[in-house]
Amino acid sequence: MKAVFLLLSGLIFCHFKSAGQAVELCQGAYFTEQQGKEFLEKHKVTSKVAWETRSAQIRKQIREGMDLQTLPPKPASKPMVHSRKEMDGYSIESVAFESLPGIYVTGNLYKPLKKQRSYAAILSPHGHGENPHGRFREQTQKRCATLARMGAIVFVWDMVGQGDAKQCEHKMPKALKLQTINSIRSLDYILSIPGVDPERVAVTGESGGGTQTFLLAALDDRVKVSVPVVMVSSYFFGGCVCESGMPIHKKGDYQTNNVEIAALAAPRPMIMISDGGDWTKNTPEVEYPFVKSIYSLYGKTDRLEAVHLPDEKHDFGPSKRNAMYAFMAKHLKLDLKEVSDASGKINEEPAKVLTQKELEVFNEAHPRPDNAVMGDAAVMGLL
Ligand SMILES: [Zn+2]
Repeated sequence: MKAVFLLLSGLIFCHFKSAGQAVELCQGAYFTEQQGKEFLEKHKVTSKVAWETRSAQIRKQIREGMDLQTLPPKPASKPMVHSRKEMDGYSIESVAFESLPGIYVTGNLYKPLKKQRSYAAILSPHGHGENPHGRFREQTQKRCATLARMGAIVFVWDMVGQGDAKQCEHKMPKALKLQTINSIRSLDYILSIPGVDPERVAVTGESGGGTQTFLLAALDDRVKVSVPVVMVSSYFFGGCVCESGMPIHKKGDYQTNNVEIAALAAPRPMIMISDGGDWTKNTPEVEYPFVKSIYSLYGKTDRLEAVHLPDEKHDFGPSKRNAMYAFMAKHLKLDLKEVSDASGKINEEPAKVLTQKELEVFNEAHPRPDNAVMGDAAVMGLL
């Protein structure tokens, strides 16, 4: 029965691709800026009931579009955790665990050295980037280490096909589905760590990691705080197959965009961080007012913030990180003083940038397990 269903869903997907890919897939700047603005004006709702009807429809199409109506069973294998390094105020470990039988999520776990009764947990998906890949970039290492110094347990994991997750190419047809499964399993993993407080769980990432951030917050209410960075746009739908390569935004007459998807975080605390150098440049006038109108339906506009940096570009640079740290401190009860100097300025210096070799998960001493499925065709077969 299962095989028949998989075959059928495969055929439906192929049908989309051959008959109507351009219509069903909304990729890159699928809207013009004007169309994005008009779409949000047209979809403003004035009651909580109307929004909850709309939000159920949006969630349904995300799940159907990425062929994830039901989550595959969770593998029973134990996570591999090794190569603990003690740093200045935090530790780093290398981690791998199965998200599907034979598929390994690979990343680094950052923990505060200071013992606490309970810990906030922060998932930290990264954006696209080459040389080095996202997990190893300075902006990623700095934010994970600094959040750990503030008292949180932080997990950053490789995008599909990057870093130690080289079981398939990044740009394979169901990368969006696999990355979403990996996000949900990363949430399972961090919640399984002893001492983690399930009421203090956040996710933050930039660009493609911003897409992973708002999709996870939309689909999983175990996420209590979200910080999507430089990605929530009324007209840009994500440029990579891992963001918009499956029809989550459109089906026939139905259409959504990433602003409505990000608004599914309401009424949980969220800060939208944007800049003047990319598709988030209109945030103060377009995206933020729409999302605020949704939070106002719950009487919770105090839980929504926005920081716009008009002179900055598409990254998770220091000023964007500072805005995120302050928001996390406020909503996760973390200690900003632990990372601030006498004048109150955040000091990221103790967060040391390590090499890819120092952060690796699989090597001679810790080989990729024998059951790992290798190659696009084999991985697609599991999806
Ligand atoms: Zn991608």
